[in-house]
Amino acid sequence: MLADRLRQATDQLAGVSDTPRLDAELLLAHALEISRDALLLGAANGRRVPEAFEALIARRLAHEPIAYILGERDFWTLSLNVGPGVLIPRPDSETLIEAAIAFFKDRQASPRSILDLGTGSGALLLAALDHWRQAFGLGIDQSEVALGFARSNAVRNSMSDRAEFRLGNWCEGVEHRFDLILCNPPYVESDAVLSPQVHAFEPASALFAGPDGLDDYRVLIPQLSARLNEGGAAVLEIGAGQAADVAAIARAAGFEVQARKDLAGHDRALVLSPVLFSCKDRVIG
Ligand code: GLN
Repeated sequence: MLADRLRQATDQLAGVSDTPRLDAELLLAHALEISRDALLLGAANGRRVPEAFEALIARRLAHEPIAYILGERDFWTLSLNVGPGVLIPRPDSETLIEAAIAFFKDRQASPRSILDLGTGSGALLLAALDHWRQAFGLGIDQSEVALGFARSNAVRNSMSDRAEFRLGNWCEGVEHRFDLILCNPPYVESDAVLSPQVHAFEPASALFAGPDGLDDYRVLIPQLSARLNEGGAAVLEIGAGQAADVAAIARAAGFEVQARKDLAGHDRALVLSPVLFSCKDRVIG
């Protein structure tokens, strides 16, 4: 019986997952080749538990992330292909899209050009392009594997005519200026202890950034102002507790900084806009 096996699988997964019931449902639906919604609505009632289900459970019991087993993860308005070698998009990163939307709404403007540094699966760039349908974007990553996923995601979401992906190291070799720069760099301290599903499966190069986790901000933030159009902004993801340190690096590079919180209440996104020269000291008349 499907329902019995689902209950049993939930108990099995409780030791490795914070969401064992959800995981079991997703894996069973995957094995049945139907959606989780269809499973919950009874579309598979009366069917036998597929043999493939046992292997999927075994992979999850070995801590493999659900998104890698399923080969996809939803982010913002999109479904994205993911797999070994690319960081799985986190809901926290949607804070960057919210921050960017708020920035341009305040200015009653829309970005026409978007640069995503360390694009990975293309999550941030493609989410932004889905919101701003007139915009074009460039995604940079140092990993060919990641770029393969990013390109497949542009095709999957019908955005390959507006999104280009290129191998590179932050802004090196990027010549144009952009209205919006997005970046979720590695920011985990090199000796931090991560859960096995992250540590043993996701790419270390997308996670770790030196003893204090700030190595990549020190390199990339000073490169940003030369790549920003007037009136534009860079929106960076930060780790919980890093706001003050990263904001200091940004101010030293000539930016005004605003923070935006994620759903857990941590400052998660910093919005960097170039400081404009103040007119307030000028004598008028
Ligand atoms: N938020 C991720 C994690 O801790 C880290 C992503 C990153 O370093 N950019 O799992």
